[in-house]
Amino acid sequence: MIDSLIRKELENIKPYIPGKPIDEVKRELGLDEVIKLASNENPFGPGVKAVEAIKAGASKVSIYPDGNVHQLRRKLADTLAVKEDNLLFGNGSDEILVMLGQAFLTGEDEIIMAETTFSEYEFSANIMGAEVRKVPLKSYRHDLEAMAEAVSDKTKIVFICNPNNPTGTIVTKKEIDEFLAKIPDDVLVVLDEAYQEFVTSDEYPDSLEYLKQRDNIIILRTFSKAYGLSGLRIGYAIADSKLIGYLDRVRQPFNANKIAQEAALAALDDTEHLEKTLKNNQEQKEYLIKEFSKLELEHVPTQANFILVEVGRDADQLFEQLLSQGVIIRSMSSYDYQTKIRVTIGLEEENQKFIKEFKKILSNQ
Ligand SMILES: *Cc1c(COP(=O)(O)O)cnc(C)c1O
Repeated sequence: MIDSLIRKELENIKPYIPGKPIDEVKRELGLDEVIKLASNENPFGPGVKAVEAIKAGASKVSIYPDGNVHQLRRKLADTLAVKEDNLLFGNGSDEILVMLGQAFLTGEDEIIMAETTFSEYEFSANIMGAEVRKVPLKSYRHDLEAMAEAVSDKTKIVFICNPNNPTGTIVTKKEIDEFLAKIPDDVLVVLDEAYQEFVTSDEYPDSLEYLKQRDNIIILRTFSKAYGLSGLRIGYAIADSKLIGYLDRVRQPFNANKIAQEAALAALDDTEHLEKTLKNNQEQKEYLIKEFSKLELEHVPTQANFILVEVGRDADQLFEQLLSQGVIIRSMSSYDYQTKIRVTIGLEEENQKFIKEFKKILSNQ
C-alpha cells in the first residue's frame, strides 16, 4: 500500500491554508463583486513599471531564466549596499524557508519559533523531520527572552518574524541586540522581514547591520507584499556569503523565474508605486483603527499592512458572513484565536465596504 511508502516524518504535515481566492468566491456564491483583504497583498496591484516588464518578458519565455539572477542581484546588492554573494533568490521567500530546512535540518535537530507566527517555519522543519519548539507570544509580541532560553544543544534555527504575521507587532533593535548576545554562534537566526517596508517605528532594527558582525543571521525579504508581485513568486535572503553558498547547494538551477526576475528589477525602480502603497497603508490603517475604536473592538497595534482584531464573536462564523457579502478576510481560529480576525489594509473603498458589511452583521445580532 502507498501509505507504507511515505517517510514517516511527513505523516503529520498539515496543508497550508491560504486566503480564499476571489474567483472561487465569485463562482461559489454567484457574486460579481468580491474584495479580498485576506492575504496581505498590495491593494493597488503591481506597479506600472513591473507590468511593462511582465508584458515585455512574455515573448521571451521560451528561454530559460538566468539561473544566477545576475541583473536583479547586481541591482539589489547596490540598493542594499551588500555584496552580490550575500544574496540568494527564491520562488518566493517560502522556497527559501524550505531550502533552509534542506540545507541545515535533520531528524536530530530542533527549531524554535513563536507559537503564533507564520506557519511555514514549522513546515520547513516538518519536511525534514526536525523537532519544532514553540514559544508563546507575550502581549502579541515575540518573547525573545523566552526564545533565547529555549535554545538547546539540538537547536539549529530560531525564526523571528519581524513584523510578526499575524499580529503585526515588531521586536525592537534593543531586544534583538540583547537576544543575539545570548545566542551561540552555531545557531542560525532567521529574521523574516516580509513586511519590513511598512514599518514606521524608529525602534525597528536595521538588520543589515547585524550581517557585518555575524555570520549566523539570515534576513528574508520578498517582492510579494509591498511590491505587489505575490503571484510571480520572488523573494530573497541576505546573509554571509558562506551561508548563502550552502543554501545554494539545495537550490534548483532555475528556481527564480524569468518574468519574476524582470518584474522585480523594474519594481525596484518604481519608487512612486512603493510610496503610494505605503502612504495608502498609513492612511487606511488610521481609518480602520478609528472605526474599530468606534465599534469598541480591540486591535493589536500594527507595523504591517494587516490588523489583528478581537471581534468578540466566533471568527469562523464572521468569516462566512462577510464572505457571503463579498468580503474575504482571515479567521484566526487556526492560530487558536477563536474570536479574532486578521484584515489586510486595502484601498479606501475596500476598507469602507468591509466596515459597512461588518457593521451590518454586528447590528443584526
Ligand atoms: C507572505 C509571507 C512570506 C512569504 O512570502 P513569499 O515571498 O510570497 O513566499 C514570508 N513570511 C511572512 C511572514 C509572510 O507573511
